[in-house]
Amino acid sequence: MKKLNGTVIVTYRCNARCTMCNRYKAPSKPEEEISLETIKKLPPMYFTNITGGEPFIRSDLKDIVRELKKKSDRIVISTNGFFTDRILDLAKEFPDIGIRISIEGLEQTNNAIRGLPDGFNRGYTTLKKLREMGMKDVGFGMTVQDVNAKDLCPLYELSNQMDMEFATASLHNSFYFVEAKNIIHDRPMVAQNFEDLINRLLDSGSPKKWFRAYFNHGLINYIYGQKRLLPCDMSIDTFFIDPYGDVMPCNGTKEKWVMGNLNTQSWDELWNSARADEVRNKVRHCDRQCWMIGSASPAMHKYIWKPAWWVVQHKFLRFWKKKKYSMYEIPAVRDYRDGKITKEELDARSTCDLCAVADNGLSAASKEQLRDGTTGEEIVAKDLARQHLDDGRHA
Ligand code: SF4
Ligand code: SF4
Repeated sequence: MKKLNGTVIVTYRCNARCTMCNRYKAPSKPEEEISLETIKKLPPMYFTNITGGEPFIRSDLKDIVRELKKKSDRIVISTNGFFTDRILDLAKEFPDIGIRISIEGLEQTNNAIRGLPDGFNRGYTTLKKLREMGMKDVGFGMTVQDVNAKDLCPLYELSNQMDMEFATASLHNSFYFVEAKNIIHDRPMVAQNFEDLINRLLDSGSPKKWFRAYFNHGLINYIYGQKRLLPCDMSIDTFFIDPYGDVMPCNGTKEKWVMGNLNTQSWDELWNSARADEVRNKVRHCDRQCWMIGSASPAMHKYIWKPAWWVVQHKFLRFWKKKKYSMYEIPAVRDYRDGKITKEELDARSTCDLCAVADNGLSAASKEQLRDGTTGEEIVAKDLARQHLDDGRHA
């Protein structure tokens, strides 16, 4: 059986309050969250990303990782890095997995975006401690937007000093983020910061970073509302599974596109079903043009000659040039600079919809928790107190 690329969303609970994501307002009910029995039914994978919500809110995350290790060549957990003790404890048992901690900028910016008390220091301390423990695959993840774009290169340099991976993203709208209104306002400014990063990556001696440069070039292309640089083949050899066992092509759709449910079906039944094929057909015609690592990275592997040729052009054919990359290589960036296209036209090409009510993808039982004005924040706070997890808000 061909190995797949899978993302396991273990929970929709989250203790952060990010400005670009409302998931914390729409938590899943712990009793409904994906069980080990369902995880055992997943197919062999060459890569698995474990994510949330905040995955470390689950007290049985170690059991989940233990199970996933049996079927995956490589595991990376994405976290906001707040629950240091749990993260270190898990890393002790699984030193060969990867951990990516989202840090949204230098201290002030990060804390303003993420809404976690002392969030920057907690995340940074977690990263440092993981390194001290000898963990190799550790890194930062940053979602670039207007308010933190200026911190992009300083954070990259910090990750270099710490000899860590540096993953970037930009704003997206989807049921997963429970958000429909995310948009970049000052595109040239944000693109300029990406351009600086791309040139630093290209100047490095690391082939991995040259390909990261290409990914970031794709992010500039995305924020200008252009067609993806590479086809989106989600649901062909890549899948997402959410806390309810719903298998989906990706996390970028407006509402959930469900291929089947692994709680009630076997993997083969689900993956080969007519419903899964219907979703694949929708993916083929999808016009959202996302550029997130989850969908871009498999495409970069599959169509490797495209990013490879871009790297050859920018790294080697311009080796004598001080500035190897210019954002104006993208026609839309030039057209906007030259007044041939307006901001309104670019905005209209984005997925931002100011009138939309974002779908949250919750089950009926999880939605039920939110009735009578009970908020997601209250539900999660109670949950954390029950688990004796310090959320930093009562200090
Ligand atoms: S982006 Fe991640 S950490 Fe922030 S609210 Fe959403 S799920 Fe939580
Ligand atoms: S472009 Fe691809 S990743 Fe984005 S919503 Fe469509 S199918 Fe999903």
